[in-house]
Amino acid sequence: MSNREWPRTIVHADMDAFYASIEQLDDPTLRGRPLLVGPNSARGVVLTASYEARPFGVGSAMPMQRARRLCPQALIVPPRFERYMEVSKQVMDAFGTFSPQVEPLSLDEAFLDMTGSERLFGPPAAIGERIKAAIREATGGLTASVGISDTRYVAKVASGYRKPDGLTIVPPEDARAWLAPLAVENLWGAGAKTSKRLREAGYQTIGQIACADPKSLSRIFGAIGERFFAIANAIDPRTVATTHSTRSLGSERTLATDVSSPRELRLYLRVAAETVAQRLRRRGLVASGVRIKLKRADFQILTRQDGLTAATDVSAVLATKATELLDHVKDPGPFRLVGLAAFDLAHASADSQLSLLPTAGKRDRGLETTIDALEQRFGAGIVQRGGEAFGDRGVGIPTNLDFLDMDD
Ligand SMILES: [Mg+2]
Repeated sequence: MSNREWPRTIVHADMDAFYASIEQLDDPTLRGRPLLVGPNSARGVVLTASYEARPFGVGSAMPMQRARRLCPQALIVPPRFERYMEVSKQVMDAFGTFSPQVEPLSLDEAFLDMTGSERLFGPPAAIGERIKAAIREATGGLTASVGISDTRYVAKVASGYRKPDGLTIVPPEDARAWLAPLAVENLWGAGAKTSKRLREAGYQTIGQIACADPKSLSRIFGAIGERFFAIANAIDPRTVATTHSTRSLGSERTLATDVSSPRELRLYLRVAAETVAQRLRRRGLVASGVRIKLKRADFQILTRQDGLTAATDVSAVLATKATELLDHVKDPGPFRLVGLAAFDLAHASADSQLSLLPTAGKRDRGLETTIDALEQRFGAGIVQRGGEAFGDRGVGIPTNLDFLDMDD
């Protein structure tokens, strides 16, 4: 079947062992050796293991201590996020030469909508080879694995099918049969816990989900059960999202009394960070930039903004950046309004985002998603962490304005 008959041509490209490969690229003495990229501390986790380390059973998100026991000969390399960002830019720029529709999911992977581009680049296999070659050239030798199909979901599973340096083409009419023998762990949104529940309910493969009664799936698994049924049948209507209608997401408070104490300002920023992070998580978004806004008593507005090393939906990360920005404000105040906005928003990938977070972020995210779940069940404000209450500071309840900036 020629590509011309594909309703859509969607490419998922994913760099192989991104951080570890960059370390090996930059330092030839590391090539061919087992590497663990991550903080060498008792509580650190592995961010990326090189392919030489993986046969020992180590992988991303594993506690560093355990990884060292499994693979004692591995070299531990502290992460250099600035460098990874730089290479990420090279990779994304290379993607941009193939399609105006590129949706980055994280630093090292993206969807490309290549529908109708076969005249320019040839059939899917040729498109895949050209993208891989372009990445190799742009980065000075790094490899990517590429999956191509007519849906995002199948393209994504296909890119992970033969790693590293893989290329897997799944024609639309083969997609359902191609997915069928794969394990339920490959379902988008099925983490370890959900996969275990799927297996306990008798579903071992994607094909079994595809043939299941969707009603019984949603009875056991809720809304995600229906989604599992759809993607197991290779139905994924989502297109590649290049423009995000939401430009920024923020929370600001007009204070009951003007405030100039940095300590109090930090506290307001932290609360705003929590509101913003929770709203990001609800929308499945991550932010790559933080902006703070202060309004002086004379109504003059000061803003400071900066980018983040990695996209996040974790309030602690937003709050840390906001505090840093606050330190750059030399104006002593007093201020009548404090706000924080997250910008440079992108859709969080269900499964790849966590691996990008440094350890602290990962722990915080776990705590924050737990709070999300509790609040969903018992109502907002059920969980308060120490030092968070405003009432006992005599500040009173400030007016709170949460806002969304839309593109149109
Ligand atoms: Mg990758």
